[in-house]
Amino acid sequence: MSRLSLAFAKYPLQWVLLGLSSLLLFLSLQHTFLHITDLNKRDTIATAGELRAQFQEMEAFLEAMRGQAEERLRSHPQSILSRHLYDALRVDGAQRINLDRVPADLPPALIGNLTGFGPLPTPGSEREDILHLALSLSPLLSTANKLLNGEVAWIYFTGTDNFIYLYPWVPSQQFHFDPAIYQKSYWQDVLSQQPQASHASLSRPYQDLAGQGMMITLSQPITKAQKVVGLLSIDISLDYLESALLQPPPQLGTLFLINQHRQILARSQPGSAPPQRHGDEQGDYHWQQGAFQLVHAIPDTPLTLIHRIPLIALLKTLIWQSMTALVTLICLVIATLSSLHSRRLNQRLNYLSRHDALTGAFNRHHFAALEQKWARSGAHTTGAIMFDCDHFKRVNDTFGHGVGDQVLIQLVRITQSLRNVGNTLIRWGGEEFLLLVSDEHASLADLAEQLRIAIADHPWAEIASGLSVTVSLGHHRQRAGISLHESIRRADHALYRAKANGRNRSETWQDDDQQKQE
Ligand code: GH3
Ligand code: MG
Ligand code: MG
Repeated sequence: MSRLSLAFAKYPLQWVLLGLSSLLLFLSLQHTFLHITDLNKRDTIATAGELRAQFQEMEAFLEAMRGQAEERLRSHPQSILSRHLYDALRVDGAQRINLDRVPADLPPALIGNLTGFGPLPTPGSEREDILHLALSLSPLLSTANKLLNGEVAWIYFTGTDNFIYLYPWVPSQQFHFDPAIYQKSYWQDVLSQQPQASHASLSRPYQDLAGQGMMITLSQPITKAQKVVGLLSIDISLDYLESALLQPPPQLGTLFLINQHRQILARSQPGSAPPQRHGDEQGDYHWQQGAFQLVHAIPDTPLTLIHRIPLIALLKTLIWQSMTALVTLICLVIATLSSLHSRRLNQRLNYLSRHDALTGAFNRHHFAALEQKWARSGAHTTGAIMFDCDHFKRVNDTFGHGVGDQVLIQLVRITQSLRNVGNTLIRWGGEEFLLLVSDEHASLADLAEQLRIAIADHPWAEIASGLSVTVSLGHHRQRAGISLHESIRRADHALYRAKANGRNRSETWQDDDQQKQE
């Protein structure tokens, strides 16, 4: 039997309780884990839903503006408003067009600034048409900006012919058309895709030319006769996206917003480790680089939300939320350990109450309990052998009390090692022992002699040089009508005869001993 199965056989109740409470803890941890991931998944999907709605709203505005712009290009790019604004365009000393002086009779909230390279186009030219188109989009741009209410940083039309119409209005000293814009990814990406792509194109993040931080741009091209004449764009600042991830902030871990190029656009917690890898795994939390990770592609957008819960944060929450089960388990473990401890203590006390502390033989308490038990059950022994160390006082006096103690220990070992002595050995007192023989076929005389010789022949000099030990023994076979008490008294009497007859010998009780006594 292995140590474990032995331990189980010894303390089955404790083990069952321990097993049950561990199972309880496991189930509680599992339940809490599912609960946490479920809640966080719901929050992530809700945030994704919000972002999707905003993204679609922007796309819808762009699409609507594109429809109107292309329609206008096909018919009349000029409008009363565009003519009014066109007349207000100025070319400065550096040959740059601007709309720094907005006509006073127009509401300022309606107008953006048009900046570009001069001179003003010749009347009837295509460039003039495109400038008019841009200016005529003013009401649309202002409405979109108002309705998108803080979600967007800029709305603008960039012509392919070196100008930009930017809403809301800022003076040209603050922002002026820069041809570097044509190198930006939003421009490059749009021109490389199909002219009539159904979705607006989303740029990589870049530093805003007007100094408003990192941006991404959502753009739709405006075409005339299959030729792109400009881009309608909406700029969204990454700061805004970050704030969108915090509505509400994730309960646990960090949310990352990723674009189609797997770049991080925003994160809900600054400095948190980014997801280095994410495949197409969807739907549930998966273990990925030290964290549980949920990947959720935001439908109809090129964006993906990744929610990561680091192991440590998860463990803290798990432990905190499973506290009841954990405390129960700890209490149970403590109770089990203390019960095992008191059980062992009881066993030790029980042992000590029945055994002699020096030699390990049974003591007189055990004998008394045995006597009562036999009296109740009617059982009896085959006989009693009483033996006593010869001249033990001399051993003590000559070799010291320590050697005397070792002799007593060795005497018990020798007696217990005799094969046919499956009997009860009791330290009767001092250096006197009682052996209760249970084997009814055993010859007490033979047994006593066997013991005497084994003791006399033992190499006692190993304990102390010059030491030799012998015992004298008396025995009496139990007979019907004679009590155990009487048997022992008779064995003791025989022992005294053995002493009297010269020691290192065994004697049996003889019936004439009785008469002599009387
Ligand atoms: P006899 O052959 O007649 O039995 O002589 P004896 O010297 O053995 O008998 P006596 O009764 O005079 O001496 C017994 C001695 O045993 C006295 C006591 O100090 C010693 N003794 C009793 N218990 C212990 C013990 O636990 N350890 C040691 N070392 N000595 C013990
Ligand atoms: Mg003695
Ligand atoms: Mg004695």
